[in-house]
Amino acid sequence: MKIAIFGTGYVGLVAACCFADSGLKVVGVDIDEEKIKHLKDGICPIYEPGLTELLKSGLLAGRLEFTTDGATAANDSDVIFIAVGTPEGEDGSADLRHVLKVAEVIGQNMTSEKIVVLKSTVPVGTASKVADCLKAFTKVGFDVVSNPEFLKEGASLDDFLKPDRVVIGCQSQKARETMEKIYQPFVRNGNPILFMSNKAAELTKYAANAFLATKISFINELALLADAVGADINEVKKGFTTDSRINPAFFFPGVGYGGSCFPKDVQALVKTGQEHGVAMTLVTATDKVNDRQKTVLLQKIKKHYGKLDGITLGLWGLSFKPRTDDVREAPAFPLIEALLKENVKVKAYDPVAIKNSQKYFNSNLIEWCASSADCAKGSDGLVIVTEWNEFRNPDLKQLASDLKQKIIFDGRNIFDPPTMRQAGFTYYCIGRDAARGLT
Ligand code: NAD
Repeated sequence: MKIAIFGTGYVGLVAACCFADSGLKVVGVDIDEEKIKHLKDGICPIYEPGLTELLKSGLLAGRLEFTTDGATAANDSDVIFIAVGTPEGEDGSADLRHVLKVAEVIGQNMTSEKIVVLKSTVPVGTASKVADCLKAFTKVGFDVVSNPEFLKEGASLDDFLKPDRVVIGCQSQKARETMEKIYQPFVRNGNPILFMSNKAAELTKYAANAFLATKISFINELALLADAVGADINEVKKGFTTDSRINPAFFFPGVGYGGSCFPKDVQALVKTGQEHGVAMTLVTATDKVNDRQKTVLLQKIKKHYGKLDGITLGLWGLSFKPRTDDVREAPAFPLIEALLKENVKVKAYDPVAIKNSQKYFNSNLIEWCASSADCAKGSDGLVIVTEWNEFRNPDLKQLASDLKQKIIFDGRNIFDPPTMRQAGFTYYCIGRDAARGLT
């Protein structure tokens, strides 16, 4: 069985490498010539732990190849995955242009029966749209399968190689058996492959992301209230998540969710609701709470300094979360923009995301630092936006002497408030004013 994967981004490349690792012949297809050139040379275009090794071993084994020739790849393959981007369109709906473009290429070039698998996150009804698109170009038979991806950037390999579940929306027995064969090596731990309708599979992905985003907004809103009433959010969280009906995972107060998935998928679900006459009230509120949360650190900074003009702040963490270089919708960005507007000098550091961040800013008020320590040196305060592991255990004495003013705004609650107070810092965090002894 030969597999083609259109789109070699965070999802397509991981899928290609993992399928090749399981023994399948895989060709990764992309329109980005430079990316394909790098991939052919074994150079991974993204930061994802473990991916370079898997890429190199796939190439070496001769099971993994890359091309920009989508026509040949489509014709030569039995199963074709579509893993291209589905960005937010102007009206909030998912922009399906790239998906339908790939469907067109497949339809124009298939001379034998194919299974076309939608791995991109796509709204309900997209499988039918893709089928219509294929029918417009070919008389050859095909199946369209909906197979949403649930991996997390930063832990993609683990998630793909050992998924909690694999969701497959399909109609024919042949498609079902083929997908079962492809995924069998990844569910040997007994986790399920769930077969359902295409529509249910499409909606499942949005349900998962909207629910996770809602968990984040829920704890963030409670953290604001905790500060207002004088309770420590960590104590509250322990208190309510020890209820066996409430899974404690993913309840971390912070600076709001970002990334290439939650923001756009929440918007797209709201849009799908509108199109079907169902107001997605809860999900709409999730988005609204997140917008407010992204301003919380800035408010704390403004309140502390009063006038920001001319101060220097160090900033740790640019990627939207740790263990990735992805900066799409990163909460650090609106914060930096707001600080620059106030004429703050920002000294920014991230272990892997500086290169991607530099494309977004063109200001001589930003200094890109080579280390977290450089970032703190001479700054009037330190802002923590992304909770990279390397930030968790700084030499507090050194940090205190590097900073001009011993002030920390921790958007991820990575430190213990009493410890920071004892070390002489004025320490702001999220929902823990009570633990700071302020209330
Ligand atoms: P990405 O932007 O990293 O990669 C998309 C790739 O598709 C790019 O390399 C682009 O050049 C390529 N492409 C665009 N048009 C093409 C075409 N016509 N032919 C071939 N290649 C083409 O995107 P991503 O983050 O991998 O996301 C892909 C999809 O998976 C999206 O729908 C996303 O919502 C979903 N998803 C993403 C994640 C994640 O964590 N990133 C997780 C689950 C699901």
